[in-house]
Amino acid sequence: MGYDVHKLVEGRDLWLGGIKIDHSLGLLGHSDADVLIHAICDAILGAANMRDIGYHFPDTSEATLNMDSKIILKKTVELITEKGYHIGNIDATVCAERPKIIHRSAVRVREAPTIS
Ligand SMILES: [Zn+2]
Repeated sequence: MGYDVHKLVEGRDLWLGGIKIDHSLGLLGHSDADVLIHAICDAILGAANMRDIGYHFPDTSEATLNMDSKIILKKTVELITEKGYHIGNIDATVCAERPKIIHRSAVRVREAPTIS
């Protein structure tokens, strides 16, 4: 189980599941702040007993500044693959009052090739 929270602010793009969402606010963070991908990566690392996303991709590192979270996901999968693990399924829920999430199927399609 992974969990993540980012604050909605003005002046940032809103990325969810690797998809840029058209919205007046975006998520504040060190990377692109894709909260869905971060929670998924945290779940993957935790299930493999490989600490958490903050350990592998610290928000104090220049290397992760404004990083595309799809790269974090790709590297996370590489990390667990090196240990002999693989992903069977991922079930994720985004809790947000706004914007309405209308990209459910797009997120699912987008994530599948990345982690298989
Ligand atoms: Zn995050």
